[in-house]
Amino acid sequence: MMEQLSAEIEEWVRGPGEAYAEEIERTHQVPSGLKAELRDRGYLRLAAPEEYGGRGIPFARYLELMELFSMSHASIRMIVHVHNGIWRAIDQFATDEQRKQFVLPQVAADKTVAFTLTEPTAGTGADLRCSVEQEGDTYYLSGEKHLITFGVNCDYWLLFARLAGTTGKDGTVALMVDRNTPGVRVEEMAETMGVRGTDHAHMFFDRAPVPVANRLGEVGQGLEVALGGFLTPSRISVAMTCVGLARRAQELAVEHAQKRVTFGKPLAARQAIAFQLAENATDIEAARQLVLYAARQWEAGDPRAATLSSMSKLNAVDMLTRVTDKALQVHGGIGYWESSPIERVYRDARAQRFEEGTNEIQKTVIAREVLA
Ligand SMILES: Cc1cc2nc3c(=O)[nH]c(=O)nc-3n(C[C@H](O)[C@H](O)[C@H](O)COP(=O)(O)OP(=O)(O)OC[C@H]3O[C@@H](n4cnc5c(N)ncnc54)[C@H](O)[C@@H]3O)c2cc1C
Repeated sequence: MMEQLSAEIEEWVRGPGEAYAEEIERTHQVPSGLKAELRDRGYLRLAAPEEYGGRGIPFARYLELMELFSMSHASIRMIVHVHNGIWRAIDQFATDEQRKQFVLPQVAADKTVAFTLTEPTAGTGADLRCSVEQEGDTYYLSGEKHLITFGVNCDYWLLFARLAGTTGKDGTVALMVDRNTPGVRVEEMAETMGVRGTDHAHMFFDRAPVPVANRLGEVGQGLEVALGGFLTPSRISVAMTCVGLARRAQELAVEHAQKRVTFGKPLAARQAIAFQLAENATDIEAARQLVLYAARQWEAGDPRAATLSSMSKLNAVDMLTRVTDKALQVHGGIGYWESSPIERVYRDARAQRFEEGTNEIQKTVIAREVLA
């Protein structure tokens, strides 16, 4: 069944997926039918358990599919990644009622949830400044969030804030905030370098009312919702994204090197070029294996899984930087033009150095274990 599904997804990615990619690049918009098509094909509920309406594909096998989607446009991969992953963050602390209200419609892709952590005036994590004041059964939310993927066109923000007056991780709360809450100004941010077509929001909250019933977990568990059980698989999935995108860059470089003739020979016949392609192939395979190892250890409940996930992401993103750089170089000057598919891959790749934590954050996590 997995082989058939892989073949079906690869065919979609290389056929209709590429046509969507061209359209997104041309219009700078994600066509409205794209998400519906991905949903109807069942691609947005691959990883969720069957009892939630998902397809229950084990995580390491799901990653093989993620590699294929990541060969596609970054906005397509973003829809697939977020829908297949964010239910985990909500689910881990949800009551039965919250599961019905938030998790199941998200798995069915009837609702879109935007992960809302980053702030313009604070560091990511225990430094966060968005705050709530409780009056009766309502929280009043104030502060700012920015760089939020799908933040403009979602149904809920899974938002992290703190009780006013608290510091550090104490007093942090995770809230499901309705997109149409009064007291919120949402600005669509300027265009990004890559990941074209996906919307990103800057939000300003001025005593926006949020029911206390929309809090996931207890007061003080906000960062656990954001960074706890959800983050490890999500980081591993981002690491696999790097592998898929690098594979696409390499494919384009190989194709170009075989076609382009200089001084009477195809580029691929020159050892200098062939060696770059050989280095890329090795780099990609090594990264893929560390990602899959991290995934299997997470599935097995290995306490080192969090460290392994950071290692796999750090390694994969650096690999992606090397591979896309060489792939573009193999193309020569024409690779720098928008008419060459490698130009988009190169831009999309750069975003991966931020998603699910920068290299500096991954190294902090790894160093903690090294120095324990
Ligand atoms: C395309 C895109 C989509 C995104 N989507 C989302 C989203 O959906 N939701 C969301 O919440 N966020 C999102 N982000 C934000 C992303 O998670 C952050 O950009 C990332 O976590 C880094 O945080 P920052 O931008 O605040 O950088 P800063 O915290 O300002 O850091 C700047 C640099 O300094 C380093 N640095 C910061 N603090 C330290 C320290 N203490 N020690 C050493 N180095 C440090 C960082 O690693 C980084 O290199 C998105 C970003 C991008 C580019």
